[in-house]
Amino acid sequence: ATMPPLLSAIANSGRHGVLVKSAVVMERLGEVDAVALDKTGTLTEGTPRVTDVRLLAGAGLEEDELLTLAAAAEHPSEHPLARAVVDAARERCLDLPVAEDFGSTPGVGVTATVDGRKIAVGAPARLLDGVADPGSARASVVAGELADGGRTAVLVTVDGTPAGLLGIADRLRGDAAATVSSLATLTATAPVLLTGDNLRAAARLAAEVGIEDVRAGLLPQDKVGAVKALEGAGRKVMVVGDGVNDAPALAAAHTGVAMGRAGSDLALETADAVIVRDELATVPAVISLSRRARKLVV
Ligand code: ADP
Ligand code: MG
Repeated sequence: ATMPPLLSAIANSGRHGVLVKSAVVMERLGEVDAVALDKTGTLTEGTPRVTDVRLLAGAGLEEDELLTLAAAAEHPSEHPLARAVVDAARERCLDLPVAEDFGSTPGVGVTATVDGRKIAVGAPARLLDGVADPGSARASVVAGELADGGRTAVLVTVDGTPAGLLGIADRLRGDAAATVSSLATLTATAPVLLTGDNLRAAARLAAEVGIEDVRAGLLPQDKVGAVKALEGAGRKVMVVGDGVNDAPALAAAHTGVAMGRAGSDLALETADAVIVRDELATVPAVISLSRRARKLVV
């Protein structure tokens, strides 16, 4: 027997490096007419590196102490930024104490107790919200400087006091700009960027790939809100993301696609399709495969 068109399209997608979870999804991929892309791990390679360590006077820590505390707190996290912090500590051969009471908030950061001290590592704007420490103003200034340099700024607080910031840089994927432009052509709409990172860092990166519509500083539910707004305007939205913070948007979207290599377990489970080959260019390829299969079906 010859294979039904949607099933051969699934097999073809597999050869392109995309795992499409069902024939229904294979069919829906071709309906997509708007695409929302996540930044960290999706447009970027997702292997960020710590490039800057900036100390704040208040806590009186040395660079290695700051990195040790931050890396110990980040160790249980699967976020790409967490891996960057742990790698930076390893490169300096620092011994990491075991963190207790680990907690993480998607789109914000992590908290843990390390050597009896309460550590928080995460988005400066979120951690500084409502903190009246004298170091807060200085921390915001340093965060702004790092963002202007194209870095993602991560704040470390120790017992509630801003202790230092880490500047983290990630490379754009080699196929990001080409993919954005093929998606724009295929769907006749420019893709939008949805990110939890700050606007300055996000806008800089968006400009490099040709994205104009940038929504930054988003919490997971804000990503859902952005998707629902587009769908309310009659769009069939594909969300492409990798993080725990993307999972609700992947679920809310017409079609959710997860980046497989660095993707969080929750994103991979929630998504309708998973990019296994770690190439963004496979996204427009499966949309085209779906459209061809649909023509054969109807
Ligand atoms: P994106 O939407 O671009 O993938 P996220 O929503 O995952 O980014 O993260 C948004 C912001 O929250 C990050 O830029 C960072 O400031 C902060 N953040 C989230 N998780 C962590 C973490 N484990 N360590 C440090 N910062 C974090
Ligand atoms: Mg991400």
